[in-house]
Formats: sequence, C-alpha cells, structure tokens
Amino acid sequence: MAKRTIAFHRERFAPSPTGPLHLGHAFSALTAWDRAMAAGGAFLLRIEDIDQSRARVEWEQQIYDDLHWLGLRWPGPVLRQSDRHSAYVAALRALWDRGLLYPCTCTRRDIETAASAPQEGGLSYGPDGLIYPGTCRNAPEGRSKMPSDTALRLNMRKAIATLDAPYLQYSETGPAEAGRHEFNAMDLIDDAGDIVLARKDMGTSYHLSVIVDDAFQNITHVTRGHDLFAATRIHVLLQHLLAVPTPSYHHHALIRDDAGKRLAKRDDARAIAKYRDEGATPADIRAMVGL
Ligand code: GLU
Repeated sequence: MAKRTIAFHRERFAPSPTGPLHLGHAFSALTAWDRAMAAGGAFLLRIEDIDQSRARVEWEQQIYDDLHWLGLRWPGPVLRQSDRHSAYVAALRALWDRGLLYPCTCTRRDIETAASAPQEGGLSYGPDGLIYPGTCRNAPEGRSKMPSDTALRLNMRKAIATLDAPYLQYSETGPAEAGRHEFNAMDLIDDAGDIVLARKDMGTSYHLSVIVDDAFQNITHVTRGHDLFAATRIHVLLQHLLAVPTPSYHHHALIRDDAGKRLAKRDDARAIAKYRDEGATPADIRAMVGL
C-alpha cells in the first residue's frame, strides 16, 4: 500500500492522566507548542488513557487547567484513547490477518522463568522490559479468529520479513541525535523481541495506540522525552507494517531533579500546579526548564 505524505506541521502533546503534570511535561508541551507556532503549524492535545486502572478524570481536568495556564491552546474535541478501542482493534486485526500476531498467556513469572533457563542466556531487557523468550510463539495455531481475551504479541521476525527491505529511516531533530537515522529492523529481534501489542487487560498497548493515533491525527512532528528514543524504532516499524506515514521525531533532554534523577509522576514537588499555587508565572516555568 502506498504511504500518504502530509506537508503541514502538526504537533501533539500526549500525556497520560495518571498524576500531576510536572516540569518535565511542561518542557515537553512548551517545546511542542513553540515548534508548532514557529512553523505556523497546529498543536493538538491527546489524552493517553488506555490504562483505565490508573487514569483519573481529575488528572485529566488538571492537565487542561495546567496547559491553559501555561498559555497553550488546542482545537477540540480532545482525542481520548479510551474512545478509540475500535481503531486499535482494526489495526490489530490487520496484523492478525497477515499472521503477524499470536496470543500469549504467559505471566510475568512464566517469562522470567523461561528467560532465565540456561539455554536462553539469561534475562535481557528492551524498551518494553524483559525480552520475551518466545514461549507461546509456536503454539499450534487452532484459532483463526483474533482472540480478545489474551495478550497479543508481534512475531517480530515474521513481521520484519514482510518488509521490502529491513532498513528503515526516520528523521530526528532532537539535540542529542539530530540527523537522518537509518536502522536495520532486524536488530529489533534481539533489542525488543516479540513485544505485546494488545495487553490482556487493555486490548491495546502504548506502542500500538500511539502510532494509530499519530496517523489518525495526521501528526507530522512528534516532540517527546529522550526516554522514548529507543521506542521510536518500534514505532517506525509499526508504521511500515500498517502503511501509515512516519513523522519526524524530536526527543528532548529530560528534566531532572537536584539529585540528577529524572522526574516521575509521583514527584508532586515539581508539579506545575504546585508552582502555580506558590505564585510562579508561566514565564517562571519557562525559565525553570530552560526555555
Ligand atoms: N503518553 C506518553 C507519556 O505520557 C507519551 C507518548 C508519546 O509522546 O509518544 O509518557
């Protein structure tokens, strides 16, 4: 299938409503906003709430309040991933019908046990945590209909074999690794393994949802933290498998606390709302993150 090309500059900020936005989020959102405005483009907000066990409407409201206070504006209605289940199922089905997914019933404990067997060479970790040793990969087929009651994994080797060539490219403008990146997707077999594309409890996963929605929203430029740099190769592969465009990526440095540790959601001490309550202005926040 031919890939679509989109010329316009469209950015998005895609937080998960699982805690307060902190300085790291402010940096990400403001960087995306500034880049979109400088290019005369568009800035969109997307709520990444596939993990309904952790998402809270109060946090979602707080995201709107904090971003408005920072001076950001976006067109409505805001896309929420919890409303996008059928789009994720359609993408999964397209992969399933090509034989690129398989059901997996392993628990975390099963994976740890299998991966630490002597012939497996010990535990190794990729962008998704423990690399899957492949236990369910060759289970007798038996099911022609895509199940919705188990996790679904991507058969990485088989998926890469469907590409015209394993060399994939994307452009990166982030300060640490700017340039045109070419990588051999075959490296993902060892570096990422058979990743989960649908979690049993969610029916989707971060990787699948993010690329389906970036494509749906015609996002041309993705600005996000450097912690997602390794995940980008997975995203570029999925874009090729689903024949959707690859945006340009900009991975920015992570904002760290005084001890040099990267900020986490539970770092309420750095929450934007807390600075605001203490009388800081949006300009102060910009200065704090170095913008
Ligand atoms: N929802 C992700 C997060 O809050 C960001 C996704 C992305 O920018 O690709 O970390």
